[in-house]
Amino acid sequence: MNKVKDDIYWMHKAIEQAHKAQEIGEIPVGAVLVVDNKIIAKGWNHSIIDNDPTAHAEIMALRKGGKHLQNYRLLDATLYITLEPCVMCAGAIVHSRVKRVVYGASDLKTGAAGSFIDILQHPGMNHKVEITSGVLGEECSQLLSQFFKMRRAEKKQLKKQKISPVLVNTEQTTK
Ligand SMILES: [Zn+2]
Repeated sequence: MNKVKDDIYWMHKAIEQAHKAQEIGEIPVGAVLVVDNKIIAKGWNHSIIDNDPTAHAEIMALRKGGKHLQNYRLLDATLYITLEPCVMCAGAIVHSRVKRVVYGASDLKTGAAGSFIDILQHPGMNHKVEITSGVLGEECSQLLSQFFKMRRAEKKQLKKQKISPVLVNTEQTTK
């Protein structure tokens, strides 16, 4: 396999992890950590159910990866993520010395691999991470936009349900 084909293959695996997040009502972001053509750790977003603001897919994969390698440095690892990492995750990626990050969808508001800010290749950083962006980007961003669309519809539905009992009560009191 060549590098592009490899990246697509592993990104599909990261998308599988994003589906796991979606199944539990979390924002669908997934990650896999690959060393020597093997997945050594997987992660998916689970901040809401764990009440844990740091429980992003990348953090989960990095923690498991360190345990797997018995090392806090993940020197030859490539991290595949369905969404561009945030500032927190980009910081953790730099600390872990991951060699390369491959991500799918760009995050224009909070992306820390160049979209909003570039932490991974910041000139002041002592470790610079190689970046490949836009791998299965369309698929990854569709997953997110469908999720938010669904959530907006659910919120609308909840609002409607809250309004209706009030209307019923008013009807009853005016009778
Ligand atoms: Zn993050």
